[in-house]
Amino acid sequence: MKGKKLIVANWKMNLLRKESENFALKLVELIKDYTSNVDVVLVPAYTLLDVVYDVIHRTDIQLGAQDVFWKDSGAFTGEVSPYMLKDVGCDWVIIGHSERRNILKETDSMIREKIHASLKAGLKAILCVGETEEERAKGKTVKTVEGQLVSGLKNQALGDISSLAIAYEPVWAIGTGNNATPEEIGYVHSVIRDLLKDILKVSADKLRILYGGSVTHENIREIIFTENVDGALVGGASLDAYAFSNIVKVSGD
Ligand code: PEP
Repeated sequence: MKGKKLIVANWKMNLLRKESENFALKLVELIKDYTSNVDVVLVPAYTLLDVVYDVIHRTDIQLGAQDVFWKDSGAFTGEVSPYMLKDVGCDWVIIGHSERRNILKETDSMIREKIHASLKAGLKAILCVGETEEERAKGKTVKTVEGQLVSGLKNQALGDISSLAIAYEPVWAIGTGNNATPEEIGYVHSVIRDLLKDILKVSADKLRILYGGSVTHENIREIIFTENVDGALVGGASLDAYAFSNIVKVSGD
């Protein structure tokens, strides 16, 4: 897809309030000449959302959350609704990250409900999909990704295609330093784009498909300009403001 790349910083369960404020202030300065070329989203833990919002809300940098619950309000102790995320200034939410699927045992049907509720509330959703090492070894990458896309997206009412992004994150590449090759990424992304046309029944040409899994400032160039790569979801390397700013800068070239 031609158009602005989308670079997303998933801070996971890291940083305290002062650290996140300092980080955001530094990043705003480092990437101020690039945010008109690249869409940048910071995704801190829930407790940091307001601090980061206060720093970035007058810039082009957008805010996202790492998860969401599928009900609007009610007796769901510990959960956070899509409307609460909107209220604190979020534009985006990551849904179905492999750490939530594997550690928190999130199911495809929970993920489907979360996407539905988020889109209804006006959030933009990033749906994460990707195969495990074992599925890859058995040649089941496409089958796994297809199953996750179908169960997450079939019959979802998608107003605007830009309210959804897909992150292809092979589980074996997350946090391992072992990124997928540009060839592997290009192949799976082109399969995903074709599948999306069938599932969503609309043209998926403009839907952004991100790659995630050990992206760094050193490998971003070979990944980001691969055909069908529209952005990156960055974990570990997003916790270093300089490294992350370099990822943004390269993506804006
Ligand atoms: C992620 O958490 O989505 C991720 C891709 O992590 P890392 O960049 O550290 O592999």
